[in-house]
Amino acid sequence: LFLCFEGGEGAGKSTQAALLNDWLVARGHDVLLTFEPGDTHVGRDIRRIVLDPATGHLADRTEALLYAADKAEHVEKVVAPALAQGTVVITDRYVDSSLAYQGTGRAIDAAELESVLRWATGDLRPHLTVLLDVEPSAGLARFDERDRIEAEGLDFHRRAREGFLALAAANPDHYLVLDARDDRDALAAQIRERVEGLLR
Ligand code: C5P
Repeated sequence: LFLCFEGGEGAGKSTQAALLNDWLVARGHDVLLTFEPGDTHVGRDIRRIVLDPATGHLADRTEALLYAADKAEHVEKVVAPALAQGTVVITDRYVDSSLAYQGTGRAIDAAELESVLRWATGDLRPHLTVLLDVEPSAGLARFDERDRIEAEGLDFHRRAREGFLALAAANPDHYLVLDARDDRDALAAQIRERVEGLLR
């Protein structure tokens, strides 16, 4: 089972991913909790390049390809091997982040970017994506790595949010869209309920 968390900055993805991980482990499942960008050897370097303010401005296509390369490495070396062993994989960000930030955010052509990402990931798709939706100004208030975010500006994050919501609306069976401002435990309960249905 392949599960994914998506959403803007400060939405609480990492918290909810960790809560779901703990619940699945307590129920006896083998679980791998992982993230993008950066959860492979080369991915750590890619994350540094794309997120270090010292990198300066990257061309949009360079940035998109670096995120796609991180995914290719992550899928082949981490995600696919774990799934092949029957492990439940939970990833904090995946393809939708690229479609939302590099696609809708930077206005890279959606169909072209999608085909790059499909190629990079071997078209491996999550069974369920939990989208923790938050208005960017609310999310950013909860977020500590502010430098890069403020550099991008609120409009960029608003476009990305619309991108995430459009992806969910286009394929509702594979999404659980939640209001990230809801109570932490109430969100966790809704996520568990949906995942429980997938485990049967
Ligand atoms: O989820 P996490 O906080 O680790 O994400 C790191 C940063 O990378 C975030 O600021 C996010 O906006 C950015 N990002 C991006 N494009 C992606 C994935 C992440 O701009 N495809």
